[in-house]
Amino acid sequence: MKQLRAIRGMNDLLPGQSPVWQYVESTLSELFGRYGYSEIRTPSLEATQLFSRAVGEATDIVEKEMYTFEDKSGDSVTLRPEGTAGTVRAAIQNNLLVQPQRLWYFGPMFRYERPQKGRLRQFHQFGIEVFGIEGPDIDAEILIMTARLWRELGIADHVKLQLNSLGNSASRTAYREALVAYLSDHREQLDEDSQRRLERNPLRILDSKNARTQELLADAPCLLDFLDEESAAHFEQLKAMLDAAGVGYEINSRLVRGLDYYGKTVFEWVTDSLGAQGTVCAGGRYDGLVEQLGGKSTPAVGFGLGVERLVLLLETLEVLPEALHQQVDAYVVAVGDVQSAALAAAEQLRDEMPWLRLQTHMGGGSFKSQMKKADRSSAEFALIIGEDEAASGQVTVKFLRADQPQQTVALAELPTVLQG
Ligand code: ATP
Ligand code: MG
Repeated sequence: MKQLRAIRGMNDLLPGQSPVWQYVESTLSELFGRYGYSEIRTPSLEATQLFSRAVGEATDIVEKEMYTFEDKSGDSVTLRPEGTAGTVRAAIQNNLLVQPQRLWYFGPMFRYERPQKGRLRQFHQFGIEVFGIEGPDIDAEILIMTARLWRELGIADHVKLQLNSLGNSASRTAYREALVAYLSDHREQLDEDSQRRLERNPLRILDSKNARTQELLADAPCLLDFLDEESAAHFEQLKAMLDAAGVGYEINSRLVRGLDYYGKTVFEWVTDSLGAQGTVCAGGRYDGLVEQLGGKSTPAVGFGLGVERLVLLLETLEVLPEALHQQVDAYVVAVGDVQSAALAAAEQLRDEMPWLRLQTHMGGGSFKSQMKKADRSSAEFALIIGEDEAASGQVTVKFLRADQPQQTVALAELPTVLQG
């Protein structure tokens, strides 16, 4: 029979990799907790309309990347391609917006893209969404918090912050007109994608990866020259707060982000250690979205962080804690007719040393073969129980990594030996 395989671009997370993910997940959720952010979990499947309305019809995501299908009752549903739309929907539906909310989420996202390094069809994002705070102080806080995250993960020197402001919708409209006027005069020099975007979503041309298009953009009107007064003041204050906090940034006036809902602050944390897929974390302010989805007008700001890319980066830079792959501290070797005694001894040890990660050998086998397994388990200690030990209530401790002679001690003395 033909072997069944996972869907292309959707990976299994294998036992050898899960410690890294657990490390990343606990580091992020703990950090967010320390800043007073609470977790929200929303469904992976939502009404298709939520994304076409929130993300925007003329975006890459809605135009070509969504996993959309009809369910059995004929409703169009979509596997979420991003986390903001669902979070906003949940916040409105559950009446969370009567007061400010600082939220984080973690989970799988789905986009039908060409799979490659750092680009999958099922990938994972951590995200932050803050509602009800106009900023720019909160914009600064989430950037300061991310800067701390990079320090705690040991990659601060390898990610750079790019910052821009899109202004309010009136200033974006004025800019869009100026940009379209300029680019229309050079239409034939634009790549095909950009020509199409000229009508549908001209701002997206700014982050075209095409070299000729980028050349053309060098002389294009600059978004920051079109900022309305309020957005310009917001941007100046944000920069001053980042300066005061010692968070470095680079202004990138061509940074627009791929989703329609952003206005004012937008940013990306980028690395040049991952090739083309260099954006690790990206976000911005989306003050109009809550109202657009039927809630009452509520300022909002947030970001999404690609976990696969972050994991790749940590592995590439070799900054993962060494102990990560050590999953057990001690391995019980049970030789002879001692299975019951070994199980009981292991339970007694777990009562006395709840911190001890203890794996008990199962299924018998020779002393030699069990010791090999103990060694491969990456445990520090082999705890050997043979028939003599079982009869006398003792254990023989063999040090698998340290250069120390083995010792036979009473079970009750074991905590002292292991802690020493
Ligand atoms: P890109 O320009 O790389 O396509 P994007 O603008 O589509 O990114 P966002 O929608 O802002 O990305 O998502 C936030 C983050 O999620 C990205 O910065 C990236 O780290 C991660 N990400 C996005 N798409 C994928 C994917 N297909 N596979 C893995 N990670 C992804
Ligand atoms: Mg994309």
